[in-house]
Amino acid sequence: MLFSGLSDQDFQGLKDFCNVTKTSIRRWKAGQPIKKRYWKPIANYLKKDVKEVENYNAELLRKQGRIKVCRICGKEFQSRFQRTIVCSSKCRIKLKPKSDYKLKMDMHYKNVFIDSLSKQETRDLIRSETINYLNRGSKIEKLKPEEAYFTFDSIGYEPL
Ligand SMILES: [Zn+2]
Repeated sequence: MLFSGLSDQDFQGLKDFCNVTKTSIRRWKAGQPIKKRYWKPIANYLKKDVKEVENYNAELLRKQGRIKVCRICGKEFQSRFQRTIVCSSKCRIKLKPKSDYKLKMDMHYKNVFIDSLSKQETRDLIRSETINYLNRGSKIEKLKPEEAYFTFDSIGYEPL
């Protein structure tokens, strides 16, 4: 382990080298992950390779279940908190459920713009199809006038 067998002198040296408190070092020693900016000073002080510190840290995070796969983009990432499930704010936006207000706005937009647009499109389609029909030499004929099959008698209504 990276911090095992640190003497009091090492403790002090590391503290000065990384410009952190003794508490920080105690936490590192207890297995708390190390922030990236301390990897190099720690490696330098312990005369180890930065890669070793990095691997040590990655191993800690993995043990704590904090190396995760982003639910949106599928990338591996280090989460700061146990509950984090996406790698970045970019992915979080995609995950965030829309608020009621936003949903209402979307519905309004759909009703006002999309539906009326499709109605207009339908009208245009009918118009152009009708013109094509006529251009092909077809005629539009009126239906023959005929008796309405519905009468007031059938529902027992007496007109005044
Ligand atoms: Zn992501």
